[in-house]
Amino acid sequence: MDLTLAHSSPILARVALLSALLGACQAVAPSAEVVDASLTVRGETRREAGDVARTLKRLQPELEALVPGVALGDLEVWIQDQPHVYSFPSDMDYDAEGLYAPDLKRILLARGSRDMKRVLAHELTHAALQSPWNRLPGTLEEGLCDSASACLAPGGAQRLRAGRLSGAAFACGGIELRLRITPKVSGAQTFETQVLLSKPAIDRAAAQSVFTVSAGLSSSKLDTESKRAFYGLSFLVVDRVVQRGGFDALYRLCQRAEAEGLEEVPAPWILDAAQLESTEDSWRAAALQAFGNQDLVGLIGMYPDKLAERLAEHILSLDFDLEQGRWWDTLSVECSLVQGTASTKLNDLWPMRVAVSQALRR
Ligand SMILES: [Zn+2]
Repeated sequence: MDLTLAHSSPILARVALLSALLGACQAVAPSAEVVDASLTVRGETRREAGDVARTLKRLQPELEALVPGVALGDLEVWIQDQPHVYSFPSDMDYDAEGLYAPDLKRILLARGSRDMKRVLAHELTHAALQSPWNRLPGTLEEGLCDSASACLAPGGAQRLRAGRLSGAAFACGGIELRLRITPKVSGAQTFETQVLLSKPAIDRAAAQSVFTVSAGLSSSKLDTESKRAFYGLSFLVVDRVVQRGGFDALYRLCQRAEAEGLEEVPAPWILDAAQLESTEDSWRAAALQAFGNQDLVGLIGMYPDKLAERLAEHILSLDFDLEQGRWWDTLSVECSLVQGTASTKLNDLWPMRVAVSQALRR
């Protein structure tokens, strides 16, 4: 996420007053500090700050080798229980594990984040991007930072991909899953059914709005669900460009926009580089085709309930007794994407076992 304040008031004095007030209300700096050249990391203890400083030092040359047009100047990182810039509660903080405040050249990082390295890589990318990267339209800088962070911190990439690709697919109509349930006793018939995972549409034309809505900015005032959708769409389109031509391909579009005197890269250039149409169907198909088997496992872990209900319904319709609900011993259950190639067995997925036993008790 990128935290840029909206300086929209035309009256400079009011802006100055606001800045002074906000300055006075800034969160208190964590007490322990580790300084390494232009980098300062503050945390609760020197050890905590030192760990983050070392991770940053390793990430910096890797980022410079991966993404063109990046450079790091002075940078501060504050480690906090929940990332926040100001001492008062603010909707800017939403639920992010990391924030970058460009005005302060400061990364705010959540303490104990599961994917600390990946979150740090995302925020570091925001901090390092130089012109003409600022010509990326809408939410696309978020996709760029996500894509870079997935390369720099592959350990956290799986969770990110599953979340972003499902966010994109939900924004474009949802995810149709096929369940194949086969009793393990010989001669028994396989039962097949489909389940649609969906969410209410956040935007009638989300796949176009991702080029105009800046969901990464604190001033965008979007709810969490809308942010999830735009971050997903942004990741999807950027990842497709990167897979086809590397980060260079996206950078060249920014350079071309600059050379032609355009403030932003036009959406059709990006769609062309990503080999996407501007229709929701094209984006949904792309998101679903991008799902690997592990991404599907991640999706099921996040949204087990509807699948579990359908499976429990079928289990209850069978005329054999399940010993203590142990369906995984009796049935072989395969789940796959209807539009896409990913598939996985549900038998060994613990979130599924838990959700089905809850559904059977209802
Ligand atoms: Zn971001």
